[in-house]
Amino acid sequence: MSPPAMNISEPTAAATTATLPHKTITPIAKDAPVPVAGVMNGSTKTIEEMAGNWEAFSFSAIRESQVSRAMTSRYFADLNDYAESDIVIVGAGSCGLSTAYCLAKARSDLKIAIIEAGVAPGGGAWLGGQLFSAMVMRKPADAFLREIGVPYEEEGAFVVVKHAALFTSTILSKVLSFPNVKLFNATSVEDLITRPADAQGGVRIAGVVTNWTLVAMHHDDQSCMDPNTINAPVIISTTGHDGPFGAFSVKRLVSMQQLGALGGMRGLDMNTAENAIVKRTREIVPGLIVGGMELSEVDGANRMGPTFGAMALSGVKAAEEALKIFDVRKAENDKI
Ligand SMILES: Cc1cc2nc3c(=O)[nH]c(=O)nc-3n(C[C@H](O)[C@H](O)[C@H](O)COP(=O)(O)OP(=O)(O)OC[C@H]3O[C@@H](n4cnc5c(N)ncnc54)[C@H](O)[C@@H]3O)c2cc1C
Repeated sequence: MSPPAMNISEPTAAATTATLPHKTITPIAKDAPVPVAGVMNGSTKTIEEMAGNWEAFSFSAIRESQVSRAMTSRYFADLNDYAESDIVIVGAGSCGLSTAYCLAKARSDLKIAIIEAGVAPGGGAWLGGQLFSAMVMRKPADAFLREIGVPYEEEGAFVVVKHAALFTSTILSKVLSFPNVKLFNATSVEDLITRPADAQGGVRIAGVVTNWTLVAMHHDDQSCMDPNTINAPVIISTTGHDGPFGAFSVKRLVSMQQLGALGGMRGLDMNTAENAIVKRTREIVPGLIVGGMELSEVDGANRMGPTFGAMALSGVKAAEEALKIFDVRKAENDKI
């Protein structure tokens, strides 16, 4: 089955930077309705034409290997293509997805890889808090909801999306529709690639070391499971607050002696926390920008609980910071 939001056509002069060896992917217009076509005995039908006519119905004949090759040819072409990326975003939670949206929209020339440890992208943004449905965003983050077209209710100082999943599924679909973005989910970042940056032992981050998450979970009981790598001049880490998976990059910076110690996320204070996260989203060491709740572990910022405006706007700021440093880091990265 073809991806619903894309048309696949032969390469044209107007091809984007995201190409497969054999095909060029042309995205449909941003707000165009998703095409729905069913194939009945070789002819293209609409859903309405199929209704009530199931006796005559059959799927197009297919050989199983065609399905395998449809997936593997694309995935391995992407692995090959994105081994050299322009920007890698680690973690596809609300901050990482907001970052990807802003970057891909601003710069269609940049190749953006998102690495997400979980099978399901979205991080903690599928529910609003304590397993409730509604998602609260404090103003002025309502601007981001208007940008991506998510409806909300007004509540004065904040707005409410009827279900957090509406925000997450919407931004996810927008991000994945950009031809210059590739999401590698079920894939963990296991380490950072470094280059010497100064004579005092400082490093520049030059990429990420990845592995299938299921493989990463078995390093204790299986040997010889070497990882894969992606080089990129700018890495944006948004792996969330510390926990079994979170704060990955900043914890690694501490163990590599590039950060003295983690500040440790402080107690809950929504007012202080949201401003701090957005304002301090920045490049922590050369080539590595940290945003979202991972940043609270660096700065010792307060936790904010179930209010998500700071995650969206930290993503906006992370994209802005990335574009500020991109040319300098790319020039450094191109040397080795
Ligand atoms: C159980 C739970 C607890 C919460 N606790 C807090 C809290 O204490 N304080 C608070 O302010 N808010 C909390 N929240 C609210 C809210 O979910 C978070 O603030 C918000 O999700 C953080 O967004 P984020 O994008 O920074 O990170 P997240 O939504 O956590 O997303 C991070 C993503 O990075 C991925 N990831 C992590 N490590 C790696 C890696 N090595 N490689 C690849 N991907 C990786 C994760 O799988 C995840 O999808 C909590 C939510 C939940 C569901």
